[in-house]
Amino acid sequence: MDESERLAYANGLLRYLNDSPTAYHAAKNGADMLRECGFTELKETKPWVLDKGGKYFMVKNQSAVIAFVLGEGNLAEEGFRIIGAHLDSPGLKIKPGACTVTPDGYVKVNVEIYGGAILSTWFDRPLALAGRLVVKKDGKLKEELVRIDKPLFIIPNLCIHLHRDVNDKGGYNKQAEILPLLSMRKDGMEKSDYLPELIWEETGIEKSDVIDYELFLYEYQKGILMGPNHEFISASRIDDLSMVYAGLSALTEAEQGKGCKAFAAFDHEEVGSVSAQGAHSGLLLHVLNRICKNLGMTDDAYFQAIGNSTSVSADLAHGVHPNYGDKHDPENRPVLGGGPVIKYSASQRYATTAFGAAYFMDACERAGVPFQRFVNRNDIPGGSTIGPALSGLTTIPTVDMGAPVLAMHSIREFGAVSDQVDTKMAFLAYFS
Ligand code: ZN
Repeated sequence: MDESERLAYANGLLRYLNDSPTAYHAAKNGADMLRECGFTELKETKPWVLDKGGKYFMVKNQSAVIAFVLGEGNLAEEGFRIIGAHLDSPGLKIKPGACTVTPDGYVKVNVEIYGGAILSTWFDRPLALAGRLVVKKDGKLKEELVRIDKPLFIIPNLCIHLHRDVNDKGGYNKQAEILPLLSMRKDGMEKSDYLPELIWEETGIEKSDVIDYELFLYEYQKGILMGPNHEFISASRIDDLSMVYAGLSALTEAEQGKGCKAFAAFDHEEVGSVSAQGAHSGLLLHVLNRICKNLGMTDDAYFQAIGNSTSVSADLAHGVHPNYGDKHDPENRPVLGGGPVIKYSASQRYATTAFGAAYFMDACERAGVPFQRFVNRNDIPGGSTIGPALSGLTTIPTVDMGAPVLAMHSIREFGAVSDQVDTKMAFLAYFS
């Protein structure tokens, strides 16, 4: 990629991040990208008719997407090449019983914490609202995406004069101290009316039509490129929508090839992946099985195809922090701008095997991009990701990798443009 192509890729990524405040929006925008590139949508509930050479995708629960390209070769012998990532991000989710009014007349939103958010970063920032509603229209249930992209809510910090040790002792009570402020009490309004009225004003959807909702708050301020040469990205949800964007870009650009190339973006990674649309489910395996059955393969040929497959679990990695350098292993120190990171864990919190690492290194080499390695310090357990579930359920060898970032799970994460570009190029090489 030359300089203008790199900038175009970074701006495309930013658009995807900014247009996708929730997993539902990220799935919809991903599906739109696939449709524009000639992929045909399959419905889980309808029969599939697949042709070799065809490009297909399906969406589950509006929050997971699996796309694949069928090559012309013998699938049993060529197998699947799969890249997986996740569409969800940590944040604040509105509870049932959405609003509460204090004796002083403040109307607050009743939220629960989704995943491992760094809560302090959600304070003093205008927040907007997005998610989905289930509405009843003409006697039928329908799911509708909503996004009210306005600065509507804020979680104000307590002033320092009433909290002198705030800079020495961090931490917030997760119930009492994180409820965002919406407005002041209005005469004649019940607390159950504030959220429906907001939705009605902004979308025209009547309170009586809304049966239930899954709504999240997100940072109103948009992500940007920054640094003296625009070499960095500062944005919400880089984890893991940047890997989703790289996977989708690589799948839509890759040559057809012989086997089956697939990209799977799951929901609920941030809360452990166990759900119907999470990586720790039968979802991907059902799709792989259905592809083989549809092509008329025997059970034996299906298991042969699984045996000939590999996968890449793409989720961000921790770059060495400029102010906390001692939090990393002394010998494995990935930095921003150093290329995609292969993640190792002897206790299998990352699924990487030497074989998995080797085929990813080979892809990096063929793409002409550098790679780095990450392994936790022995006294810091670190996190996990979709790799162990993906490889455990499918029995397909997996490498856990991701672009390095700082401030993972902050409302605003921070990474280098070059790592994003290099990751996409490595994915393209993996698929070819
Ligand atoms: Zn992640």
